[in-house]
Amino acid sequence: MATFENVLVSALPGEPLAGPERRQVYGLYSRVLPTPVPAPRLIASSPEVVALLGFDPAWVATSEFAAVFAGNQLLPGMDPYSANYGGHQFGNWAGQLGDGRAITLGEVVTPSGSRQELQLKGAGPTPYSRTADGRAVLRSSIREFICSEAMHHLGVPTTRALSLIATGDAVVRDMFYDGRPEAEPGAIVCRVAPSFIRFGNFELPASRGDTALLRVLADFTIRQFYPELLADEASPDAGTYAAFFREVCARTAVTIAHWQRVGFVHGVMNTDNMSILGLTIDYGPYGWIDNFDPDWTPNTTDAGNRRYRFGQQPSIAYWNLTRLAGALLPLVVDEAPLHDGLEHFVRTYQDHDRRFTAAKLGLEALTDDDAPLLLELRAILAEGEIDMTLFYRALAGIDAARPDAGVFDAAFYDADRRAAVLARLETWLAAYAARVTGEAADPTERRTRMNASNPLYVFRNYLAVEAIEKATAGDDSGVHELLSVLRRPYTPQAGRERYAARRPDWARNRAGASMLSCSS
Ligand code: AMP
Ligand code: MG
Repeated sequence: MATFENVLVSALPGEPLAGPERRQVYGLYSRVLPTPVPAPRLIASSPEVVALLGFDPAWVATSEFAAVFAGNQLLPGMDPYSANYGGHQFGNWAGQLGDGRAITLGEVVTPSGSRQELQLKGAGPTPYSRTADGRAVLRSSIREFICSEAMHHLGVPTTRALSLIATGDAVVRDMFYDGRPEAEPGAIVCRVAPSFIRFGNFELPASRGDTALLRVLADFTIRQFYPELLADEASPDAGTYAAFFREVCARTAVTIAHWQRVGFVHGVMNTDNMSILGLTIDYGPYGWIDNFDPDWTPNTTDAGNRRYRFGQQPSIAYWNLTRLAGALLPLVVDEAPLHDGLEHFVRTYQDHDRRFTAAKLGLEALTDDDAPLLLELRAILAEGEIDMTLFYRALAGIDAARPDAGVFDAAFYDADRRAAVLARLETWLAAYAARVTGEAADPTERRTRMNASNPLYVFRNYLAVEAIEKATAGDDSGVHELLSVLRRPYTPQAGRERYAARRPDWARNRAGASMLSCSS
C-alpha cells in the first residue's frame, strides 16, 4: 500500500479542522473530513492510474479501497483539506468559491518519482459548499471519470481519474432547472493530478489585497511545480513571478490548441476552472464536436451568450490569463513582462495550432499560402454540417492521384446540406490533393501521420448518455467498455465500429447528449 504525504498542507497556511459550516476563509485551504456514505461500491478504476500511483491492482478490488476512495476511511498519512479560491464566472468576479465538494486526501510519491494529489469529488460538504450539498451524481461522475482518462489517451494535458465509486446514497438534483428535482444515484470520483491549484487560488488573496498570502502561494507553486524557474536556495523575485506567468501562458496555450485539435468544448471556462499547470480540469457540461460548428456550446447555462463556444476557447483562455496577470501584478510590479507573457500565449497557441492543423491535414508544415485552403475547409465543414472526427479520418484515406469526395459520405448528417456543399467540397479536395502531392511525402507515411493526429474514437456526448442509462439501471458494462475503447483512440478496434460512428438522430437535441446544465 502507498504512503501518503501532505506537502501542501504542511507548507501553506490554512484553517485548522473546524467542520463544514459555510464561511469566508482567509487562509489558502480548510482542513475538512469527507462525510461517510452508506454503501461504497467500486464501479470502475483506471488501470493506467493504478499503475502510475504504484498501487497493487489486487488492493483496488478490496472493500478497503472502496471505503477509502468513497471517503469512509482514512489511511495513515492522509490529512484531508479543501482549497480556497475565487474566480471570474462568465466574465464576472464571483468572490470566494472554493472546493465545495472536492476534498484532497493526500499526496502519493509515485514509483517514477512524481508527486500526485488524490482528490475526491462529491465527498460531502466543506466550508465552501455555499447552498449546495457537496455531493455529485452518478451521471456527472461517469462523465468526468471517462472523459479525463480519454483526454489523457488522446495526448491532451489533463487531470486523471483513479476510481469511480457508487455511494449507495441518493442525491437530489433539478437537472433541467425547471422546479422538478429528482433523486439520482450518488457517486464519487477520485481525481489525480500533481496539483489542483487554479487561477482562482491566486485571484482570491489578490482581490483581498493580501499580497503576503498571494506571495506564499506563488512561491509554493513555483518551488513545487516550476522548480526550473528558480536556482537552488534562491528566493523568487519579480522576474521569477513573471517567468512563472509566462510559463502558465505557454502551457495553457498548448492545452487549448489540443482541445481545438480533438474537438473538445469545455463548457465552463471560468477562471476557477483553469489549472495553474495548464491541465484540462473540472469536467462539467463539456461536449465533443460532432458536426463541425465553431459556435456550438453544450452548456445550456451559457446558451444566451455562448461565451464558452468551441471557436472562442482560445480567446477566452487569453482573457482568463489577463485575470491571472491582474492577480500577479502586485508580485511582478511592472506590467510589461505580463504583457510579454500574454503575447507568448498568442504565439505559442498559433504555433501549436499550425502544427496540429498541418498534422491533421497530413502536411509537413503550413505556409501563409495555405490560409485560403484552411478557411475554405472550415467554411465547408460548418455549412455542410460535416462530422469533424469522421471527416479527418476519411481524408487520410484519399488517394491524392484520384481524389473522390465520396469518402466523406458517412460524415454528413443531412442530405440537403451535403448537396449544398458538394461542389465546393470537390473543388477543395482537388486543391488539397494538389497541395499534398506537391510535398512528395510517401502516401503511407502521410496516412500514418494523419491517423496519429486525428482520433477515430472520441467520447461523443451520446455515448456518455448510453453508458449513464445502463449504469443507472445497474449495469456497469457500458462504462467499462467505453473506458477500454477510449484507451486507444487512434487505433481501429475490431468489433467496436459503432463507437466510431456519427451521432445518431435521437441524440441531436437530446438533454444530456447535446445540451447539458451545470446541475451535477
Ligand atoms: P463548477 O462550475 O462546477 O466549477 O462549480 C463552481 C463552484 O460551485 C465551485 O466552488 C464548486 O465547488 C461549487 N459546487 C458545484 N457543485 C457543488 C455541490 N454539489 N456542492 C457544493 N459545492 C458545489
Ligand atoms: Mg469548478
